[in-house]
Amino acid sequence: MNYPDTRLFIDGQWCDAASGRTLAVLNPATGQEIGRVAHADIADLDRALEAAQRGFELWRDTPALERSAVMRRAAALMRERAADIGALMTMEQGKPLAEAKAEATMSAEIIEWFAEEGRRVYGRVVPSRSLAVQQTVLRSPVGPVAAFTPWNFPINQVVRKLSAALATGCSMIVKAPEETPASPAALIQAFVDAGVPAGVIGLVYGNPAEISAYLIAHPVIRKITFTGSTPVGKQLAALAGTHMKRATMELGGHAPVIVAEDAQIDLAIKCAGAAKFRNAGQVCISPTRFLVHNSIRAEFAQKLARHAQSLKVGDGLAEGTAMGPLANARRLTAMAQFVDDARAKGAQIAAGGERIGSAGNFFAPTVLDEVPLEAAVFNQEPFGPLAAIRGFDRLEDAIAEANRLPYGLAGYAYTRSLKNAHLLAQRLELGMLWINQPALPWAEMPFGGIKDSGYGSEGGSEALEAYLNTKAVSILCA
Ligand code: NAD
Repeated sequence: MNYPDTRLFIDGQWCDAASGRTLAVLNPATGQEIGRVAHADIADLDRALEAAQRGFELWRDTPALERSAVMRRAAALMRERAADIGALMTMEQGKPLAEAKAEATMSAEIIEWFAEEGRRVYGRVVPSRSLAVQQTVLRSPVGPVAAFTPWNFPINQVVRKLSAALATGCSMIVKAPEETPASPAALIQAFVDAGVPAGVIGLVYGNPAEISAYLIAHPVIRKITFTGSTPVGKQLAALAGTHMKRATMELGGHAPVIVAEDAQIDLAIKCAGAAKFRNAGQVCISPTRFLVHNSIRAEFAQKLARHAQSLKVGDGLAEGTAMGPLANARRLTAMAQFVDDARAKGAQIAAGGERIGSAGNFFAPTVLDEVPLEAAVFNQEPFGPLAAIRGFDRLEDAIAEANRLPYGLAGYAYTRSLKNAHLLAQRLELGMLWINQPALPWAEMPFGGIKDSGYGSEGGSEALEAYLNTKAVSILCA
């Protein structure tokens, strides 16, 4: 399959940037250029903004049932095209083909859930203080939205935002990742083929800082939504505040995994081990700080190391690959620094710990044991295939450690005790917690973090709230 060049999508047309500028797209498994992506400048953004305003006025007034039908068609197209789109994603992002296809297929489920939920955006009637007065609460779409999405899940990060926006009647300009442009473009194509009118969706690429600064400040944009690192999220949230724009921030995490004394160790290894090395650990909810009861720590570390060593690392397109390359060379440098720092501070390397080969961004699935608290990997988001293990004696200490960092996105726990599970659910400062199971971020459940991991949700009915205004209307009917 050939990898295409990716163009901008503005006002219902695929187009080059007005300046003709493009950027290279590299295959992370080889380091080779595989295509180009158009680089938007201000003139392109102005056209996208004008179109988004027109698109909003049209889509807002389209009945919810009709919007839902269009979205369902887009979902069906994504299912039909998942294999081809998955291959594009693997070429540009690196993840194994099965993971890429699953992401494309799952997008269909997300679109369908929002297509249905959008039909249930109800206002309410509030009893009034006079028989002659009718009080109602109306919900209306916020307006044109700007979305900024990262390269780790090129489709999933767009589809959660876009589906919620479309379901509520908003238009959206997506600034998708320059490193992985073709698969999000294929998602947009599915919506276009399904009948989304011109202007309702725009797609741009370019200089992220320049585009976000321009769009967030622009009066047409009424809301922003961003997924990415905490430092960038804080900058964009500040800019949104300056311009009084609503914002959803889905930022970094540093997920604790608490393995209690009474845990089923093999279940914990199976679930958390798979989650750790999925997408080479480049996942905001990736398990990172493994806090394991001291009575089982050594056994757990040995088994997790064995699991890590058993994974076949290679080109995501090759048969049997369990873990692909890191998406960009920056992550390779970051991994080496985390490992060197942990080793220097006394951690044991139980598995991996180094780059594989010299071509492509391959890094071995890595397990670090007896990691001291002051190691960087226990404090900063590694965003890569590193599992860091520490022992604990009392569950309260593990909870305190889990809550120590400013992050509060996802967490995991393994215990047979209902009492422990209840305590963990009450005390952990997180947006999402999975106990005795792998991460299952279904569309119908809220998805988002607290503390430095951001605010707002990209799942469940909460995700629609983020795209709705509330209007109190009181009518004297005399
Ligand atoms: P980065 O902070 O430079 O960029 C993260 C994402 O934000 C990228 O998609 C980038 O295009 C975008 N971005 C950067 N500056 C921006 C700006 N001023 N305006 C709008 N968008 C902007 O980091 P990176 O090297 O690309 O990725 C590594 C870090 O990013 C990781 O450590 C991780 O914390 C974070 N990240 C998080 C997620 C997530 O799902 N929450 C996804 C990707 C990256």
